[in-house]
Amino acid sequence: MFIKIQGVDIMSCDCAEFQDHAANLQLRNKSILDIVTKLGEQNSLLNRAVFKSATHCGCIEINASKQVYSENKTLEENKEDFSNHITGELCPKCKEKIEEEIGDVLFYLATLCDALNLDLEDIMDQKLDHLKTLGIYNLL
Ligand SMILES: [Zn+2]
Repeated sequence: MFIKIQGVDIMSCDCAEFQDHAANLQLRNKSILDIVTKLGEQNSLLNRAVFKSATHCGCIEINASKQVYSENKTLEENKEDFSNHITGELCPKCKEKIEEEIGDVLFYLATLCDALNLDLEDIMDQKLDHLKTLGIYNLL
């Protein structure tokens, strides 16, 4: 996994190494209250970066409309008909910014796990098993 944390490139790492590294770097916001609020704040910054790609840069367009589910189609067929409402491709600048914001979300998520003595890698493994078991029905 290649991750950028607060503007600094972190080379390929595994999840446990990432969590340990993030926890060791967490100095100012050690309180669970700070971690949770920083995670929420960072999520807002990620959302803003995605939307600014459309509203400021213009490399992508977002044209949202109601997703129409057909009772006469299978879940897989409906999935094919659903749209992500995005046209275009992220330019390199927007891609880099969004990747940086995702890295920061991961940083605070890892520090949240550390504060609560949870293992991010175990959580990801459990979720992956859940997704594999339920497949597309996970979305219901
Ligand atoms: Zn762009």
